[in-house]
Amino acid sequence: MWALGPCRFGLLVFDRVWYDAAEVRPLRDKDGVMVPSQRGFRLDRLKALACWASLACGGCAMSAASNAALPAQHTVIREQLVVHSDFPLPAHHRLLEELTARRRDLQHLLGLPMSDEPIHVYLFESPMQFEEFMRRDHPGFPRRRAFFLETDTTLQVYAQWGDRVAEDLRHEVTHGYLHSVVPNLPLWLDEGLAEYCEVPRGHRGLVWAHLELLLERIRHATWRPDLPRLERIDPGRDMTQEDYAEAWAWVHFLLESGPEPRAILREYLGELRRDGTARPVSARLRERWEQPGEALLAHLEALATEARTVGE
Ligand SMILES: [Zn+2]
Repeated sequence: MWALGPCRFGLLVFDRVWYDAAEVRPLRDKDGVMVPSQRGFRLDRLKALACWASLACGGCAMSAASNAALPAQHTVIREQLVVHSDFPLPAHHRLLEELTARRRDLQHLLGLPMSDEPIHVYLFESPMQFEEFMRRDHPGFPRRRAFFLETDTTLQVYAQWGDRVAEDLRHEVTHGYLHSVVPNLPLWLDEGLAEYCEVPRGHRGLVWAHLELLLERIRHATWRPDLPRLERIDPGRDMTQEDYAEAWAWVHFLLESGPEPRAILREYLGELRRDGTARPVSARLRERWEQPGEALLAHLEALATEARTVGE
């Protein structure tokens, strides 16, 4: 949680901040346009304090000005989502339909209950308005198209309307759904699931860019799957593009390669939700496969073959 102390010289105190964002630059797409970039960004507690300290220095006037910059003219409520914008958005816009359907997909896929905790989505009409808000409210943050922010009491998504708003919202809202029901989700799994969910429904979570990147690395013998390594990544550290691709690949393997891996993931998430901690997924996979990495490589090869067949 955070609290603003007495006016002017008050301190903003965070117990915990979680931040995730989509890059402004385009990612590598399936046509082979190579623009490698990090997909996300997280703030550790110190960085967050530094960002918010710049607000605190401005005192109440600055806070009031910043609040005014948030979209607030229109609000649409769809189940957990509370969507704020300064432009009218139909309550049954197909993007909102998809986002609410995704909540049920996650429940079905992962065996998780639904939460009624609101996820506030702030939609900016243009990149310029979004950037102006970011410059004033989050001056220390790098440029991003969208981001997810969690404190102990709120779940918020900030995004700009544009060509990639659907992909961004599918990704960031997935974080919101997950964080509202599962505590202490490991970074790799949080991002892997968000990546899996950022493609439109019906695509079975297939992210072409990640598949191509990993197949290329396999061809050049520059990458081997290593889930224990992903599990050790510090939550305060940025993941690389390759980390995102591998996190997606493990999630895709767990959800799409058969009932057994999916059951392993569901069991893990159930324990994490119940106890706040759980034995790592890698340890569970080793009980079933001597070399889980080989099983993942076989899954990626099968995906590539399937993709080639569809493309012919
Ligand atoms: Zn993310």
